[in-house]
Amino acid sequence: MSERIIISSSPDILSNPIDYLKGVGPLRAELLKKELGIFTFRQLLEHFPYRHIDKTKVSLIRDITPETDYIQVAGKLMSLEIMGAHKGKRMVAELKDSSGVLELVWFQGISWVEKKLRLGDHYLVYGKAGFYQQMPQITHPEIEDFTPGSTDGKNFLEPVYPCTEKLKARGLGARQIANLTHTLLTLIREKDFPENIPDTIVKNLSLTSRYRAIHDIHFPSTQDAYEKALSRLKFEEFFIAQVRLGLIRSQRHRFSKGVIFKQVGELFNRFYNENLPFELTGAQKRVLKEIRKDCGSGKQMNRLLQGDVGSGKTIVALLTMLLAVDNGYQSCLMAPTEILARQHFTNITKLLEGLPITIRLLTGSTRSAARRIALEELQAGMLHIIIGTHALIEKPVQFNNLGLAIVDEQHRFGVAQRAKLWEKAVINPHMLVMTATPIPRTLAMTAYGDLDTSIMDELPPGRKPIITVHRTEMYRPKVMDFMKDEISKGRQVYIIFPLIEESQKMDYENLMKGYENVKAYFPEPKYHMSMVHGKQRQQVRETNMQRFIEGDTQIMVATTVIEVGVDVPNASVMVIESAERFGLSQLHQLRGRVGRGSEKSYCILLTGNKLNNEAGERLKTMSATNDGFLIAEKDLSIRGPGDIEGTRQSGMLNFKLASIVLDRALLESAKENAEQLIEKDPELNTEESIRLKQFLHGQQGKTVWRKIS
Ligand code: ADP
Ligand code: MG
Repeated sequence: MSERIIISSSPDILSNPIDYLKGVGPLRAELLKKELGIFTFRQLLEHFPYRHIDKTKVSLIRDITPETDYIQVAGKLMSLEIMGAHKGKRMVAELKDSSGVLELVWFQGISWVEKKLRLGDHYLVYGKAGFYQQMPQITHPEIEDFTPGSTDGKNFLEPVYPCTEKLKARGLGARQIANLTHTLLTLIREKDFPENIPDTIVKNLSLTSRYRAIHDIHFPSTQDAYEKALSRLKFEEFFIAQVRLGLIRSQRHRFSKGVIFKQVGELFNRFYNENLPFELTGAQKRVLKEIRKDCGSGKQMNRLLQGDVGSGKTIVALLTMLLAVDNGYQSCLMAPTEILARQHFTNITKLLEGLPITIRLLTGSTRSAARRIALEELQAGMLHIIIGTHALIEKPVQFNNLGLAIVDEQHRFGVAQRAKLWEKAVINPHMLVMTATPIPRTLAMTAYGDLDTSIMDELPPGRKPIITVHRTEMYRPKVMDFMKDEISKGRQVYIIFPLIEESQKMDYENLMKGYENVKAYFPEPKYHMSMVHGKQRQQVRETNMQRFIEGDTQIMVATTVIEVGVDVPNASVMVIESAERFGLSQLHQLRGRVGRGSEKSYCILLTGNKLNNEAGERLKTMSATNDGFLIAEKDLSIRGPGDIEGTRQSGMLNFKLASIVLDRALLESAKENAEQLIEKDPELNTEESIRLKQFLHGQQGKTVWRKIS
């Protein structure tokens, strides 16, 4: 019997356990693993410095001025004296160079330092300079032996690494980490860290080579070299991610099978000509064209529809569903809440009046008899359109021939939930994913980069811009008067209270108090109020919402449960209480509840007197613009990508060095280059792409790259 022994083709030094590195004993290995998560050579290499200090230059003591920050000087140790006692105990040394004298002071570790120093010897000293009684001074300097005569410091910038207190206490500070990294770099050859970006791109963009970059990011000889290394590695992070996403898209475009919606049929045309109550905006028409092209291509559509609040995504969804019906396929529209699902159902049913289309609603609270009928009709193919909530993705929901699945307000749904819709048909249905508010471009490019994107950046005509103002508590009576005026003109008003989980109890009390206050000001029977919040029974909530929608009540006091999608065109005032506690996109989304009719609308942001900078910034942004795309960008730049709703779990934003906020230009360039490459060479089979392909294979499994939709 012969057994084949498989020898791995190239032993990968970077996978070595960190314990194998010279200078790392069992104790240090343990610390590195526990404190910094460094288990391998590679992880040490990828533990990047967060800054460098310039020790290439040795200054003269004379040059120290009150403006001097950190400085490096060299000189001879002239005196060493321990003074004071107890808490006042300190050691003071004098260092002299050709230009003057500098005092060095220690309050701690005195005996240890004292042992190291010898009068008359030369030292290289580094630290933050200050003055004490007109004398230049450095407290707790870094100090090392120096050979007089050499005028230079070191020939590289010294890296400073992220480090923990525990590590420092155990003698494994930034300095020691630098030494270990230095040792490691001497072991790494170019073959261990080979180029992965195609040559043409490296050349066109004048990128530092990958091998050079990993050296220079730790030990650059100049600031410029550091920046080039950093930029190269950031570009690589973006580029690799963009190639992965691009490959997913490209493979879908080329291989995924999709049902074909061949023609615009009778129903679509009849609806368009007879039922559509308005002219479509240019953006709506353009997006429909994009969708039709996808659905007719024979490949599965996977499209993200981004449109600002109120841009009219619903009608686009409806027309797409009609396209499906015309071609003999069923569609579903999934919304994140019961209220929204019901609203879609009501609106769409009304819009479809007179057309031979069967449509039903399915939510968690659909009664069992109605549910049974819906499910039967669905399976028998008698139902054309089904609208609902999560209930749609449950097991018993079986379609006859699902051709199109639309998900509204997508970031409330998890990835996995959307994927379940796919399984409901033999051939994957076309997917249209609609966002509640715009996503910043850079985020769309990364977190949703595997989807094709349509953008609706135009509001229906006749909308008056919403006037947004920020008012402090003092103005509350005036705000109330203003509401009264508007209501007397026949308009409706929203008042929103924050309800955020950690402080729910207090928030709940505030909401109740707020409700009573408003009620005192707007007494029955002249005025009627609705209240909607998450603690109510579903049915109560629905009824209250419905009364407001029908104009039965003039004032809606609510928490953010009404945030998304609700459409009451007659409402013209949105008052947001404790507005400083809301995020930007949430504020924008809330504001989008008004300004839906032709009346002039207002958004009033109420806050206390004291605001932190970030909140102030948010409110200023809200007052300055109605443009959701602009606001999304601002939101991202204030909060950073980590917090943006719905992206945390995506696993696509975990860049080590690059930031989608700060390195936008690099991201754009990475995307462009990745796309060009995939267009030219979709299998990455040409000679110059092969190492990229190998790199991607090697990485597989290390990062989770899930499909988003
Ligand atoms: P969103 O994109 O926020 O989901 P909706 O689809 O709810 O927006 O549309 C907002 C409002 O604008 C609705 O009342 C809708 O009837 C109306 N609307 C949509 N498209 C147009 C249009 N082309 N012209 C006029 N009104 C429109
Ligand atoms: Mg909507």
